[in-house]
Amino acid sequence: MRCDHCANDVPDGVFCTRCGAHQGTTGELAKAKTRSHRYAAHPAEHVVQPSVFTTIFPHLGHQKVHEFRWAFVVGLAGIAVLYVAGLIAAAILVAIFLVPVLYLIYLYEAQVYRDEPATVLGFTIGGGAVVGLVLSLIVRALDNPYPSFGNPLHPTSINIGLLLFLGVLVPVVQEAVKPLPALFLPKRSEFPETVDGLVFGIAAGLGFSVAESLVAFSGALTGLPAHLAPGNWIYDLVTLAIFQPLVQGSATGMVVAAVWRYRRGRLGQRELGGVAMAVIAHVAFTLGTRTLSDAGVAQPFVLIWQAAIVGAMLIYVRYLLHHALLEEAAHMGFAETVCPNCHMHIVASGFCPNCGVALTAAPTSVKRARKPAVAKS
Ligand SMILES: [Zn+2]
Ligand SMILES: [Zn+2]
Repeated sequence: MRCDHCANDVPDGVFCTRCGAHQGTTGELAKAKTRSHRYAAHPAEHVVQPSVFTTIFPHLGHQKVHEFRWAFVVGLAGIAVLYVAGLIAAAILVAIFLVPVLYLIYLYEAQVYRDEPATVLGFTIGGGAVVGLVLSLIVRALDNPYPSFGNPLHPTSINIGLLLFLGVLVPVVQEAVKPLPALFLPKRSEFPETVDGLVFGIAAGLGFSVAESLVAFSGALTGLPAHLAPGNWIYDLVTLAIFQPLVQGSATGMVVAAVWRYRRGRLGQRELGGVAMAVIAHVAFTLGTRTLSDAGVAQPFVLIWQAAIVGAMLIYVRYLLHHALLEEAAHMGFAETVCPNCHMHIVASGFCPNCGVALTAAPTSVKRARKPAVAKS
């Protein structure tokens, strides 16, 4: 059949395998082409949906996403058990490492690094951790004693200079340096897709987040007795396990994705908006958290603020990635393959004709298993 949107002859299907347009929809042509109701990395979801796993783990098919969700829930339950048992230092450690360790497993699972695992992991997670350690120690030296993230044990006082330093300057500097390791990745040309850049950026941001949190909570980790009454630590634990890594990861993901788009000559308002979003949301997160905590606002409201910022960031990441995937699924050549999302045997080019997933976001093993085929129309 002939696609109404890109005018190519393509195999029958709900989605055009060349341009990804949703053929089944009646109504406006533009709507079928941008298909915002069918997120390109995970077509069962809308683009505007603050889902964590289908956003920052874009290479995972439907089933794998569930496995990662469960692993995350188990991790959170583990933190809750440690908290209730009064093992706060252990709970803090698990919280700091939970999302970054899941990400490491994801990178391995999807083989995003192809043949260069050591280089890619070193320049993303490793590089981010080194940059995070250096920067956090500098900030700590400039502002001693280091007031930790919304720590209820810290005395509440409002100091405008300190607030602007820690709430505005530090996040802006962090956004400038966090992407550096991913940008200096050797053999970058082997990873031309924006989805790769996004994942490398998120990995660097998560590496940074680990180092930053370890420095921020080093006092608690070394100074707390092994066992103590749980108290108010649960709020810090939620921030550490969920919001802190998501802010650091998604912000750097957007910045690095924008650089990848620039290298492809596709830097537009959407990408510049992503960089602005990364900086503004990060400042809003840090400044808002500090201001609300200093003003004595109840901790659950601080968490709601953090959740709102993270939700907005995740939606922007999806919006960026969705359009990058739609534009970049260039003609990959028709091939016989198994869809990583719906598991159908398909003859496809850039998109699965059945579920519409962008095959540029498929795990490397799926990409390598493509067998060239003759187009049937
Ligand atoms: Zn088409
Ligand atoms: Zn499919």
